[in-house]
Amino acid sequence: MPNETMTESVMQTYNRFPLTLVKGKGSYVWDDAGEKYLDFSSGLATCNLGHVPEKVEQAVKEQLGELWHCSNLFHIPSQQQLAKLLADNSSLDQVFFCNSGAEANEAAIKIARRYAQEEAKNGRHEIVTFTQSFHGRTLTTLSATAQEKIQQGFAPLTPGFHYLPFNDFDAIKEVADRKPCAILVEMVQGEGGVNPASKEWMQALAQTCKENDILFMIDEIQTGFGRTGTLFAYEQYEVDPDVITLAKGLGSGLPIGAMLAKEQVAKAFSPGTHGSTFGGNPIVTTSGLATLKEIAETSLLSDIKPLIDQLWQGLEQIASKYDVIKEVRGKGFLIGVEVEGQAIDYITKAREEYQTLIIVAGPNVIRILPPLTTNKEEIEAFLNTFEKLFAE
Ligand SMILES: *Cc1c(COP(=O)(O)O)cnc(C)c1O
Repeated sequence: MPNETMTESVMQTYNRFPLTLVKGKGSYVWDDAGEKYLDFSSGLATCNLGHVPEKVEQAVKEQLGELWHCSNLFHIPSQQQLAKLLADNSSLDQVFFCNSGAEANEAAIKIARRYAQEEAKNGRHEIVTFTQSFHGRTLTTLSATAQEKIQQGFAPLTPGFHYLPFNDFDAIKEVADRKPCAILVEMVQGEGGVNPASKEWMQALAQTCKENDILFMIDEIQTGFGRTGTLFAYEQYEVDPDVITLAKGLGSGLPIGAMLAKEQVAKAFSPGTHGSTFGGNPIVTTSGLATLKEIAETSLLSDIKPLIDQLWQGLEQIASKYDVIKEVRGKGFLIGVEVEGQAIDYITKAREEYQTLIIVAGPNVIRILPPLTTNKEEIEAFLNTFEKLFAE
């Protein structure tokens, strides 16, 4: 249990569960009383390879004995290798490294404006984002986040954002009319309630961007790194982004973010236009490199296909039995279960009675985020627990 005199000094920006975690391995975590939990929250879609994945641990341990930090005034081999491997495994060409998702989106917003000014020279600056999106908590990324509850109390916001309805075809017409310099969109909205975009809508949006010289920028911070069943979610939507942003799963839990761009867009950043002291340092890029190798250079992504099917089929079966479940939605291992009533009641019960960790995505959506390294038995155990939440 948390010690109240110890938590007092931490600013209250999170409603924390009454649970103190001290150890993790694979799909499990342990609390300070030694109790074991099945963790299908994966540190908020971050520990995609499970907790303390061996290959990543080994690589980072080795790097810890060599060099921790030297700044971006010098060349960093692991940074170059990670950038190359990201480029090889995506349709993007160059990478800027930073420390978080919000910073990756900041970099995307900055490069979009600078591209409009220096490369396209079209005089545009507006960026369109979509209702229920989530792009981060810095002042500019919360200005990009089209959710009032995130923005409340922080006015004046950064100007230059326009919000349009997600998954709405009229919004695409408006994008064509407004001609912003860029749009920024999630393939599956994570924090906003696990809302997948339809493929038709996403492809039409991408096409409209292409026809009107609007940069098509995808926030893959939650959907990336295998979370939706492919390395990046955009692969399943068969679209060709100009920019993507990454963080969460990229470092297996070490803090790293990245903004990837096509070569002609990347040119808009020249030395001195953007930077980060820690961005892409030897430790975090070693972690990112080992993580990416595990996901992109092994059979992991094909191995998890039957596991994804098993989980979805099990959830849909449960949903068909209990009327309080309204919908099961998402993609791959990014799953939202919309319920009647408060999602928090179900996740509390899962934690307290069944030692199973899941989280919410808004007031009435349960969010399930298994590690990609889970197995048949764990999913079976999870489904048994999940049904009990509704049966009892
Ligand atoms: C988590 C998240 C962010 C913000 O990432 P931080 O690392 O918390 O700054 C941005 N966009 C999406 C889609 C996210 O899920």
